[in-house]
Amino acid sequence: MFVDKAQIHVKAGNGGNGAVAFHREKYVASGGPDGGDGGRGGDVILQADPNLATLMDFRYKRKYAASNGGDGSGDKMTGKDGQSVVIRVPVGTVVKDAETGAVIKDMSEKGEYVLARGGIGGWGNSHFATPTRQCPRFAKSGLPGEELDVVLELKLLADVGLVGFPNVGKSTFLAAVTRAHPKIANYHFTTLYPNLGVAYAGEGVSFILADIPGIIEGASEGAGLGHDFLRHIDRCRLIIHVVDISGSEARDPIEDFNTIQEELRQYSPELADRPQIVCGNKCDMCDDPELTERFRAYMKEIGAEYYEISAAAHMGLQEVVYAASRKLKELPPVIVYEPTYVPDYTSGRFAEPDIRHEDDLWIIEGGWMEHLVRNVNFSDYESRMFFDKSLRSSGLFDKLEEMGIEEGDTVSIYNLEFEYQR
Ligand code: GDP
Ligand code: MG
Repeated sequence: MFVDKAQIHVKAGNGGNGAVAFHREKYVASGGPDGGDGGRGGDVILQADPNLATLMDFRYKRKYAASNGGDGSGDKMTGKDGQSVVIRVPVGTVVKDAETGAVIKDMSEKGEYVLARGGIGGWGNSHFATPTRQCPRFAKSGLPGEELDVVLELKLLADVGLVGFPNVGKSTFLAAVTRAHPKIANYHFTTLYPNLGVAYAGEGVSFILADIPGIIEGASEGAGLGHDFLRHIDRCRLIIHVVDISGSEARDPIEDFNTIQEELRQYSPELADRPQIVCGNKCDMCDDPELTERFRAYMKEIGAEYYEISAAAHMGLQEVVYAASRKLKELPPVIVYEPTYVPDYTSGRFAEPDIRHEDDLWIIEGGWMEHLVRNVNFSDYESRMFFDKSLRSSGLFDKLEEMGIEEGDTVSIYNLEFEYQR
């Protein structure tokens, strides 16, 4: 079974809580704080695997959770880190936020991506001991793991996409110019899932060709197969539009051509305007010269790059392959989707964080702070700048001022402490 769209729910592990504990030993009165930190929650990781071709697994399993970090304990014992979960997806899977449809990540290359980050563990009370604060009776809780619903969409990575009515000879074309073995038969919708093949145009020059199930009129409104499969040619740099010009099914090739163009436009105007080569197929059985001539004239009229071929008799195919490869040289690379998912943590989507005040220590936790901190890499300059900017624009500092924070007090945000400066 071929499945190319799925929705899943992922939940990274929660960070373990920090411990409040004090050193105890016989004959030693009131030992110092020795509560250990919580362990880190496991991540949910996506792995693009070139050996996978469908999202079928996600039909049966839709929830993925990594395990939680363990709590800290006395004697400065750190809790155990949670185990990460690795989800394998086919290369070419585009990951989108289920709610907004924004692109989170395009798994267009072999490799891994952390989709949901595990929460960091909270600090135990041993971190909070200072000469003036010898017995801190508090520790921090671990951060919850990220949790989100995502849509996975498989969009094949091909240079060239074949489009056309059912039964015009697309699969025959693919089989003739590549080593792929798509199913070919004389009935509509033989091809039920996309096929890929590599076409060679001379030494060292090749491109990937995708054959998708035929499109029919109304497909873009959901009638029939085709529509769903158009997503597989979204990335294509060039389209080869195959038209049956033999009149074998008593249809008019000009009408067919325009119907498909219209379907493409309905799906995506940008796709309809993608560079195109038109192939008039089944020339071996063209016995109505008037019909062939009319189509030829129409192609000329609209300025299409047009070739007459017979995919079954292997006529004119090499020319098309070379023409495609020449065009591809000039065209931009296969489309990779840039992430458009930019969560704005402080915009009111999340609750305000809690502010706790212990002596000269200001502890800020929860709400949007939790989301913000998780997404900042403190060893990276840009990332720290982003954190700083978010804090300033959030109005947090104004609030602290109102509550009476003073220069030199310590601000404690999860596992991060800094001196407050105006
Ligand atoms: P698709 O639905 O567009 O993939 O079409 P297929 O490749 O499955 O072909 C449909 C039918 O048309 C099959 O019976 C093929 O053998 C036949 N066919 C494809 N190309 C040609 C051609 O150039 N000439 C002739 N005579 N038949 C062809
Ligand atoms: Mg086919």
